Amino acid sequence: MRCASICLTTVFLIGCHGTSARLLSYRCLSPEAEALAGARAAPAVEARHGGIVRDAQVEQRLERIGQRLCSGCESLDGEYRFRLLGSSKMNAASLPGGRVYITRGLYDRLESDDQVAAVLAHEIAHIQTKDHFKTRCASTEEAIDREADADWHAALYLREAGIPPQAMIEVIRIIATAQPMGWSDTRIRSLVARLQLPDAEGSLAQN
Ligand SMILES: [Zn+2]
Repeated sequence: MRCASICLTTVFLIGCHGTSARLLSYRCLSPEAEALAGARAAPAVEARHGGIVRDAQVEQRLERIGQRLCSGCESLDGEYRFRLLGSSKMNAASLPGGRVYITRGLYDRLESDDQVAAVLAHEIAHIQTKDHFKTRCASTEEAIDREADADWHAALYLREAGIPPQAMIEVIRIIATAQPMGWSDTRIRSLVARLQLPDAEGSLAQN
């Protein structure tokens, strides 16, 4: 089987942002090669977003929430590590091989463990669906679709782990001010429809 993608892209919660460097070119990757790609990209990504914050309390909380999510979700495979980045901008990011990041700017805005789990689940979704190895989004519509798909997969992981999937909608509301105009409404509408929730209008009204 041939994989179409050739460039490694860091994938963010807010949208699709390409890394400036094309780090590696491949066709199909083994798990080991994916981990190597992530390890090579990590220093630049971490430096660009404020560096890793060594805060034992936050790290323990991220680990606890991440483990609850992963151990409760049989459809998830792979090893994940969760780290806080120092940037004051709201965002989260991931790299192949299981690196999941959340910025201080977003972490401090989250109001519950469920919302933290939703952010982690969204980034895990990008890793699971190998978005890092897809070509950069060619249009706004494609970028929104990719985020909406990650939201959807995240909601499924949350639900499987016994966490209310609505937490994903709550997170999209929180990051709405950091997103391009209209993205959050589209993402929420998509997720509400796919989850078959009754309150699409109510979810949007709280933006
Ligand atoms: Zn995303």
